Amino acid sequence: MLPEIKGLNEECGIFGVFGHQDAAQLTYYGLHSLQHRGQEGTGIVVSDGKKLKGVKGEGLVAEVFTTDAMKDLEGNAAIGHVRYATAGGGGYENVQPLLFHSQTGSLALAHNGNLVNANYLKYQLEAQGSIFQTSSDTEVLAHLIRRSGFPQLKDQVKNSLSMLKGAYAYLIMTETELMVALDPHGLRPLSLGCLGDAYVVASETCAFDVVGAEYIRDIMPGELLIINENGLTSEKFAISTTKAICTMEYIYFSRPDSNIQGINVHTARKNMGKQLAVEAPFEADVVTGVPDSSISAAIGYAEATGIPYEMGLIKNKYVGRTFIQPSQTLREQGVKMKLSAVRGVVEGKRVVMVDDSIVRGTTSRRIVNLLKEAGATEVHVVISSPPIKNPCFYGIDTSTKEELIASDKSVEQIRELIGADSLTFISVEGMMKALGQEGTNGYCLGCFTGNYPTEIYPDTLQYYYQK
Ligand code: SF4
Repeated sequence: MLPEIKGLNEECGIFGVFGHQDAAQLTYYGLHSLQHRGQEGTGIVVSDGKKLKGVKGEGLVAEVFTTDAMKDLEGNAAIGHVRYATAGGGGYENVQPLLFHSQTGSLALAHNGNLVNANYLKYQLEAQGSIFQTSSDTEVLAHLIRRSGFPQLKDQVKNSLSMLKGAYAYLIMTETELMVALDPHGLRPLSLGCLGDAYVVASETCAFDVVGAEYIRDIMPGELLIINENGLTSEKFAISTTKAICTMEYIYFSRPDSNIQGINVHTARKNMGKQLAVEAPFEADVVTGVPDSSISAAIGYAEATGIPYEMGLIKNKYVGRTFIQPSQTLREQGVKMKLSAVRGVVEGKRVVMVDDSIVRGTTSRRIVNLLKEAGATEVHVVISSPPIKNPCFYGIDTSTKEELIASDKSVEQIRELIGADSLTFISVEGMMKALGQEGTNGYCLGCFTGNYPTEIYPDTLQYYYQK
């Protein structure tokens, strides 16, 4: 019997620098621009070439890294992390980077993604004597590295990475090196840039713009980059790789000013809105987007149909994202606090409301209601993702299958539940077209189609399909 799974639902952001005297400060700014990827905890570990030193805490980047906390973080290399986790996976000990000390040196780890065989590996490692200090799956890699029989760290890391299954973008830092690894499917985005002679790595390219770094390229699936005083080398740690980047990164998660695989996120979303205009052309008076992630798609829909785009909904920017609130009650409260309909815009109007996704349906029902209460005569809901029918095993909190409204309900049933006059989801083909693709190769669509790019382990399935 495998132990109960904890801490699976997470989505994070990572940032690293090698070769810059202000490494910790740059990491602070990088993490700040990745804050949307996780707000529950954050940390920075810095290396001065001799030792690793870290600061971490629960809360936002600006809250954790006070001037006092930053003043001792001196060194030329740093890695940082912003964390999102469910209640079960939260807590100070799970805030990253994780820092390990041993007789042979120190190691810091920062991870974005989710391992699908973490419990299987933990069970084996514990049977061999490992004791875990966190409930995060990230720690598995540290134990595998320490138990690897290879004499060189590089080979220890490569061998350990090859045992992991699922989604992972890892930053691994020692006193003298920064290693960067991406899983064989490249499920999570990870890019390399430079700032003068220094190298920077980030979950999203928006972090490069903030620190003034130049984008070089995306990390390849199954690639291990090693950056040290001799420069940068690239190796493969996986024999077989098949790219399957997460489509939800384009739809919802990444910032509109980020580029993933050369595609600008705002442009991709706008194209999705244009495609929806083809798939769901309505006669309406105004188009409005649910702020912030749906505004680009709403602009695209408005542009393609000629219906004016209006700010029909206003967001209170100081409330966290509904999508990542941990409980149903909090989610409902969050929606009320977060959005308001603009009566002057929607009263007496037929409204097309563009949103990026429907997960549980609670938020959509509330927003449709807000618009109707503000006097909208019709509310047509168009969604720039296909119905989310299946859970994500790779680090995006789409919830368990039973909580997903589209898992057992038809589009018409969902429409009725959310109280809209019509409801249209973009087709899978239409979404791929918006991304400039003919087929689905190179992309993960697991939560829409149920076809996952990796094997899913039985205990992971049990967690996500719990009844
Ligand atoms: S299952 Fe969905 S959310 Fe998860 S990685 Fe794949 S596309 Fe992204």
